[in-house]
Amino acid sequence: MSQSPLNLRQLPSSPPESVRPWIGIHYLCSGKYIRVYRSADGMQYHARCPQCSRCTVFRVGKGGSSARQFEVSCR
Ligand SMILES: [Zn+2]
Repeated sequence: MSQSPLNLRQLPSSPPESVRPWIGIHYLCSGKYIRVYRSADGMQYHARCPQCSRCTVFRVGKGGSSARQFEVSCR
């Protein structure tokens, strides 16, 4: 019994720049979960509630929260 090895290519150690970091936002008011990508300047995440269109800005800060998921309630 011999299985051929998986044809894996070597992955680069760092992701390409086209992959933008994101965070998950759970809107309690609408009960929806969205994914928010980092803004063009790389300093903020602009989240928008799918229910009431209210915007929430998350700042990217060094030494800040390393959490990738947040809960937001617009009310
Ligand atoms: Zn809302």
